[in-house]
Amino acid sequence: MSFPVDNRGYYGSFGGAFIPEMLYPNIEELRTRYLEIIEGEVFQKKFRKLLKDYVGRPSPLFLAERLSALYRCKIYLKREDLNHTGAHKVNNTIGQILVARELGKEKIIAETGAGQHGVATATVCALMGMKCIVYMGEVDMARQRPNVERMKLLGAEVRPACSGSRTLKDATNEALRHWINHPVDTHYIIGSVVGPHPYPDMVTRFQSVISEEIVAQLEEQEGRRLPDYVIACVGGGSNAAGAFYHFNEHKEVRLVAVEASGQGLSSGHSAATTALGRPGVLHGSMTILMQTKDGQVVEPYSISAGLDYPGIGPLHAHLFDSGRAVFLSATDQQALDAGIRLSKLEGIIPALESAHALAALEQLDFNRKDVVVVNLSGRGDKDLETYIEKGDY
Ligand SMILES: *Cc1c(COP(=O)(O)O)cnc(C)c1O
Repeated sequence: MSFPVDNRGYYGSFGGAFIPEMLYPNIEELRTRYLEIIEGEVFQKKFRKLLKDYVGRPSPLFLAERLSALYRCKIYLKREDLNHTGAHKVNNTIGQILVARELGKEKIIAETGAGQHGVATATVCALMGMKCIVYMGEVDMARQRPNVERMKLLGAEVRPACSGSRTLKDATNEALRHWINHPVDTHYIIGSVVGPHPYPDMVTRFQSVISEEIVAQLEEQEGRRLPDYVIACVGGGSNAAGAFYHFNEHKEVRLVAVEASGQGLSSGHSAATTALGRPGVLHGSMTILMQTKDGQVVEPYSISAGLDYPGIGPLHAHLFDSGRAVFLSATDQQALDAGIRLSKLEGIIPALESAHALAALEQLDFNRKDVVVVNLSGRGDKDLETYIEKGDY
């Protein structure tokens, strides 16, 4: 196994399941069943078939020649942006809805911030004909109207979370409350490698198809299975977990995680968790999070909604703590510039999240022969307004 997790869900000293007692039956059912389900032959067949015919996998591994010339190395882009719904998130929602069906669940709930995970969840619920309720902060609903409408068009019910700051964490609380009250017929689809065990491990396994494909594609295109670098952005950390998975045990592969430093590390408007945070419990697991002296979660900020999260998944806390991965950060401006650079050099407009990974190319010192894989987690269509408003092109 490529991210060794013990049966209580720990990666080193991070992970576990810190949950209210009322949630115990739901989590325990999932914990005792998930491995047997997802490792089953029938499940794997269904999962692989949907990834191929519905999502459009394998996603290409594209040699970006003009970008490579600029940074004087060999840069490949893993094109998760070409997936159905435009990002990697659907790999996980397909996996989880199949798990939900195996568990005999009839309804799905999810929480969403910017709406991307909500859309990926509503999509697979439509595909499977399952009832879908997505909790979303009232403030986020106003900010992200197109995604709210997309979810409704896909047949989901979007319920506003009206307490607290009326954003992601409040939506998460509402979703958990719903789940506690409907434990038997409902599955809760979490959208990243966060939450109580077994979610981080389960989501990582579904996303690990990314590095599984990279290995085979590099072998075919480069005659070698291992790159020198793998670079991915980290919000909760699911696209990075998937891109790193099959390389973790090969110490010669440098893993580079890129967080969002927003308006700057010391600006007070940032989401660079490892640079600014300390250990603590967030959303059911022991991890690293941005918090005040007395342990209140600090409101994160990033230009890209997908990176606007105050913590990271526990496996990333462990990768950071153990030094296995290098953690860098990119500001809003650096990400915008990197996104515009890729658009002009390669004809690919990246999601602003993915643009943070591209911005790290500026901070690394490559050798001519280095093979570098950047995980392009999503496409930039959703960010066009931000590019127009804030970009300088
Ligand atoms: C949601 C999202 C992310 C951040 O989520 P991770 O779990 O860290 O991968 C990154 N890129 C895109 C395009 C997203 O939609």
